[in-house]
Amino acid sequence: MKMRVGMGFDVHQLEEGRDFWLGGIKLPSSKGAVGHSDADVLIHAICDAILGAANLGDIGFHFSNTDPRWKGMQSRFFLQEVIKMIKEKDWQIENLDCTLTLEKPKINPHLPEMKKVLSSLMEISEEQISIKATTNERLGYVGREEGVNAYAVVLLRKD
Ligand code: MG
Repeated sequence: MKMRVGMGFDVHQLEEGRDFWLGGIKLPSSKGAVGHSDADVLIHAICDAILGAANLGDIGFHFSNTDPRWKGMQSRFFLQEVIKMIKEKDWQIENLDCTLTLEKPKINPHLPEMKKVLSSLMEISEEQISIKATTNERLGYVGREEGVNAYAVVLLRKD
């Protein structure tokens, strides 16, 4: 059995009056993330972790943020495409561990729905997905509610 680890990081600005897509669901929030696609920072970090583990480049290489094809695109599409890419190379996801840093809204109440959506997109069980969230203790751009960070680590397996 072969195993490979990958890590992903992404950051997006937050702006008043935008939809806040995170982990494939729309969060109740007065602010939302700014980006070329739906700006789902968690899905972008997950895509980069998976691509990194398989050594297949990064999300910007496959889905450039200057390409009009991806404007306003739902990030769930990127994740599904990334899953297809690793399946072609016979990789399977063993587990995924993510951390979000943002001041609000509280993420805990939304984790069950987020995990349900991500497990279906990634074709793995919810038990293989861990998502944690922490505030930034009011420090820096996250603390000022100007941005949100996502970190993801994934382990791939090939039997
Ligand atoms: Mg991004």
